[in-house]
Amino acid sequence: MSRPPSGVCVHCLQGPQDLTWDHVIPRSWLPETVVPNVPRPQVPACEACNNRLSKAEAELLACFGWGLNPESPLARAIVKKAQDSIDPRRASSKRDRKAREALRARMRKRMREMEKAPTEGVFPGFGALPEYGQGPFITVHFPVDLFRLFMRKLACGVTWIHESKLLTDEYEVRWIPYTHDGWLEVNEAVDTFGARPLDCGPGVLLRRAPTSEDPIVSLIRLELWGQLKLIAHVRRKDRPLTDSLMTWQIA
Ligand SMILES: [Zn+2]
Repeated sequence: MSRPPSGVCVHCLQGPQDLTWDHVIPRSWLPETVVPNVPRPQVPACEACNNRLSKAEAELLACFGWGLNPESPLARAIVKKAQDSIDPRRASSKRDRKAREALRARMRKRMREMEKAPTEGVFPGFGALPEYGQGPFITVHFPVDLFRLFMRKLACGVTWIHESKLLTDEYEVRWIPYTHDGWLEVNEAVDTFGARPLDCGPGVLLRRAPTSEDPIVSLIRLELWGQLKLIAHVRRKDRPLTDSLMTWQIA
């Protein structure tokens, strides 16, 4: 895709300024086997946001990769990428080596041995997995601030692609955990009212359901590598939360 014209960045809303293309789902989150020239959904973003988000996505990939089941064909390449990303022997330069070593040190700090499987915050979808066997378990704590940053970026990108609109300060992005009481309803709403899924590449299922009342208000469902399920809820800050979710039932 050609260089985007100058304009407003979909993430920080600053502009007009020179922009770059930001992939809605980072290319690094796709398996290596993907044909590199297939166009994927991209949005205009400033260079500062693009760099900031790329760093967050690389860090998240390292965290996600350690929580995925490597036996799954969709996740295998991602697990390998996550492992490679903290391996200094794979560095292409001195600087790259330092970055990989630093990431490895951060990942070590995020890993804990636990006797019992945690009941919350576990893959897939960060819900409890009762079928877990005997411990001890190695758990990976991931940086929730980076995760929230990504969920907002995802919402900004998909809203821009579907509605050609910016996510202004009037809206907020909430993450609905997989085990949330309303998850099944939310899931059904996405299937019923969702627009055509965005083709983001193998292993990625992305679908957005807008409300008829305000098309920016939406549910965005992202399924990654057949294992991780995420839903973002874009809502108006000035509306009570329940009202906002109810809208799908009458849309
Ligand atoms: Zn920006």
